[in-house]
Amino acid sequence: AGTEGPLQVQRVDATSATAERDRYALEQDLRGALHNNEFELRYQPQIDAASGRVIGAEALLRWHNPMRGMVSPGLFIPVLESAGLIEEVGLWVLNAACREARSWHRLGQGPLTVAVNVSAHQLDRPDIHTLIKRTLERHSLRAGLLEIELTESAAAADVGRAERLFETLHGLGIHIAIDDFGTGFSSLSALRVLAFDKIKIDRQFVTEVEHRRDSQAICQSIIALARGLGIRVLAEGVERQEEYLWLRRHGCSEFQGYYFSPPLGGTEFQSFVCNSAPL
Ligand code: C2E
Ligand code: CA
Ligand code: CA
Ligand code: CA
Repeated sequence: AGTEGPLQVQRVDATSATAERDRYALEQDLRGALHNNEFELRYQPQIDAASGRVIGAEALLRWHNPMRGMVSPGLFIPVLESAGLIEEVGLWVLNAACREARSWHRLGQGPLTVAVNVSAHQLDRPDIHTLIKRTLERHSLRAGLLEIELTESAAAADVGRAERLFETLHGLGIHIAIDDFGTGFSSLSALRVLAFDKIKIDRQFVTEVEHRRDSQAICQSIIALARGLGIRVLAEGVERQEEYLWLRRHGCSEFQGYYFSPPLGGTEFQSFVCNSAPL
């Protein structure tokens, strides 16, 4: 084994050097992506079980690069964040989502909201609320139709600032959802300090919930928590009818996941809304 020592070191170095080069190349490609129109948004329908209607969609970013093909957001969003590009791309997302949502007027059987993911880095900007307000105005979108999705870690980075930002956004009429709920380490204190309007139950608790006692206990607690706080709760990543029925039976009324629909292009989303009969 001793003779493998130096070899091992060499290989690790080579690997990390390659990884570094790959990452750098990815970053360079991402720098050109906005300019080259390589980003687009998909819209995943959100359904209210009580009315059986589509109530809105979550906007999800897609990157299509001519050389790389479709790259997963799980891969490129962390790079956008660390390269300091997420602010600019995030603003592009917000703008595109608001423009799209404006075109949904009179489409649904009720108002359709658009939910936009916002990274911690975007909250660092002192004028973030002004940017959001201007974007709404530019597209004449009613603030009540925009929802911001934040993870608890994004909100917890600077709680004092987040508190003030929430007040400003609420003043405008914008709703704020806590994303991936239960996956961080400060979920409960985040809920106590910050006035979230909605909890999104993370997919990991939804998967096979109908026969997993641990997930059942967690989902029931989150649903009770939302009820106690007087806020809404949505289950995400619902893939199977059994999951949907179990959650509905236990008091969850908003849903999102492949069981209902994958994320769709703008036109497809509009057809989905028009064609979807109540559940
Ligand atoms: P997220 O906010 O938790 O979004 C939900 C993810 O679950 C999406 O992955 C969606 O396509 C996927 N999904 C939806 N239904 C199902 C299902 O039934 N089963 C399974 N297995 N997956 C489902 P996606 O689009 O790959 O996005 C991954 C993450 O990237 C998002 O997780 C979000 O954190 C981030 N992201 C996406 N778009 C944006 C954006 O515009 N800005 C920022 N800051 N982050 C974004
Ligand atoms: Ca989200
Ligand atoms: Ca989520
Ligand atoms: Ca997630």
